[in-house]
Amino acid sequence: MILFDRFVGMELAYYRALNRRVLLSGKDAKNLSAQEKGYAGECTYDRIFDEVGHGFVFVFRDVYLGIEGRAAQYDSLIVSDDGIVVNEIKNYSGNYRYDKGTWYIGKSPVSDDALSQLRRAVGKLVKLRYQVRGKFNISGKVIFPNIEFRLQSNDDELWDNVVMRSGLRSYLMQFQNMNAGRVAEDIAELIRSHIVPNTYFDKCADFSAVRKGLYCSECGGFELENRKYHLVCESCGSRETKETHIIRAISDYKALFLNERLTNKRFMEFIGYKVSEKTVFRMLNKYCEQHLKGPATHYTFKYKSFDDACENNDRSWRYKDYIDGLVRD
Ligand SMILES: [Zn+2]
Repeated sequence: MILFDRFVGMELAYYRALNRRVLLSGKDAKNLSAQEKGYAGECTYDRIFDEVGHGFVFVFRDVYLGIEGRAAQYDSLIVSDDGIVVNEIKNYSGNYRYDKGTWYIGKSPVSDDALSQLRRAVGKLVKLRYQVRGKFNISGKVIFPNIEFRLQSNDDELWDNVVMRSGLRSYLMQFQNMNAGRVAEDIAELIRSHIVPNTYFDKCADFSAVRKGLYCSECGGFELENRKYHLVCESCGSRETKETHIIRAISDYKALFLNERLTNKRFMEFIGYKVSEKTVFRMLNKYCEQHLKGPATHYTFKYKSFDDACENNDRSWRYKDYIDGLVRD
């Protein structure tokens, strides 16, 4: 059972939204492509796990846990009565070599050390287990889901700790036979109670520098013809409802302006006044929490992302609780 699903992370959402509205610098474009690649790898892993089936185990995808005052990120945590398995997902591609603690691509050393990242991630959970005097196992693997990834090494310890794409399906199949009863529920509760927001990402775009308006999701064009309920792209003819456009714009605003309040006035400016204030007001109240303070009334998006808002318009109470916990005033 998936207890926490994966959504586009803050950093990827930021660069995607920025890319629509400014010409990215070389560094930003590189960051966007690295983020896209990482996310694609995580989605491949999720898809294969979904196809294989999760059996009874509990799965947490992309969570930050607050342990000893710091947030640690986990790509995937699998919880059964045996304990917790950490899966650190690396979407590497190309020919890699691992020798005496260093990774190489061709002859160049790689700065990332996936194995120490895994050790650190496992180590943090060991601390958490110690804090609660828990008695369950904690282990982990680095997962390489990319079919184009090759790895050479004579290090047995490495091979014990990694799962290549060719072995991923059979690796994930083992979880089907695991039990998840009372013990697993307690562990899942422990994890849930330590989930914190991502505090690492703190980039905020310059409001005056981003292009205002609404854009076509197909071609990115900003020239849209205003119909009664739809906006029609003048470049490619795609048609999307005003509601869809507004949800996307709210999601973009949240991604781009981390600590800037979303007010009616600010949002109208952001969307270039392309939709009537009345419609915007209705949508803000439908998709956001309203924080009433007269003219300074502001809104916080109830959803993790555009896709989340489209799919989960009738959210479960559990998810709502989590979102409430994230709202910062
Ligand atoms: Zn278009």
